[in-house]
Amino acid sequence: SKAAGNRMVCFYEPSMDVAARDRALLAMDMRNGIERNEFELYYQRQNNSMTGDVVGLEVLLRWKHPVRGMVSPVEFIPIAEKNGFIHELGDWVLRTACIEAASWKRPLKIAVNVAPAQLADVNLPARVKEILRESGLDASRLELEITESGIIADQQHALQIIRQLKALGVRIAMDDYGTGYSSLSTLQNFPFDKIKIDRAFIGGVTRNRHSAAIVRSTIILAQSLDIPVLAEGVENEAHMDFLRKEGCMEVQGYLFGKPMPLSDLDHVVNGDAGE
Ligand code: C2E
Ligand code: CA
Ligand code: CA
Ligand code: CA
Repeated sequence: SKAAGNRMVCFYEPSMDVAARDRALLAMDMRNGIERNEFELYYQRQNNSMTGDVVGLEVLLRWKHPVRGMVSPVEFIPIAEKNGFIHELGDWVLRTACIEAASWKRPLKIAVNVAPAQLADVNLPARVKEILRESGLDASRLELEITESGIIADQQHALQIIRQLKALGVRIAMDDYGTGYSSLSTLQNFPFDKIKIDRAFIGGVTRNRHSAAIVRSTIILAQSLDIPVLAEGVENEAHMDFLRKEGCMEVQGYLFGKPMPLSDLDHVVNGDAGE
């Protein structure tokens, strides 16, 4: 038939079509991924820059696809947002992370990423409340990381949801700071508990004076607004020297540890030492 013929043609067409087809296949696989236990949570340390103590862990989602192997969240999160699966997946991440964290000996904070589509959902606060109740995790130990793209579409709506989340006792962090459109007005209008400076700027602090200036002025701005600031993507001692000198209190990056499964972090979450 004509349709079948077209499909065949599509299959051999340039890479754009192959990529689109590939995304469609991934979107279908995703729906079964949770039941098949293909998703896993990795955790990455967040450290106090002065004492070196671990103060929290960011939760980062991994997908071990049975055929493709590890698929990056950079690839599958946008697909999940497009096909609506992000709500189920996001709930699974939150629930799993809260249940895990509630069982640790040390009351470390966990930072969970929330996609723009999740933040737009009026049911998010009620679901977070239910997950906290179910897991028994103290709300003050949960930090939700949101990006500017999650709040620009409808600022008033986003602000309302954020206020409801904060009323539960949950903390809100502004993720990827500096990469959005209207960072300054956003900081003024939203009650953030933390600012995370995007790793794109940290990577440049030792060789690019513009990156250094942006990081320095963000730290000063955050301090004058009384909002704690964390630098992400800290990879070496030169980055650390710069950040310590500028007074950045929290750091996260490969220098302290890559994201890893909980089984490799037992001494961190259950040990007595600060590490
Ligand atoms: P993000 O929230 O900005 O997370 C930080 C990313 O930087 C992670 O990539 C982490 O592995 C990486 N990273 C950490 N330290 C360093 C470093 O020192 N150097 C470099 N070069 N990279 C570092 P990952 O795990 O691949 O996640 C990518 C993005 O996917 C995240 O960016 C986040 O936007 C999204 N993501 C991951 N998990 C989730 C999730 O559960 N829900 C949602 N909605 N998004 C998620
Ligand atoms: Ca994040
Ligand atoms: Ca980030
Ligand atoms: Ca990012």
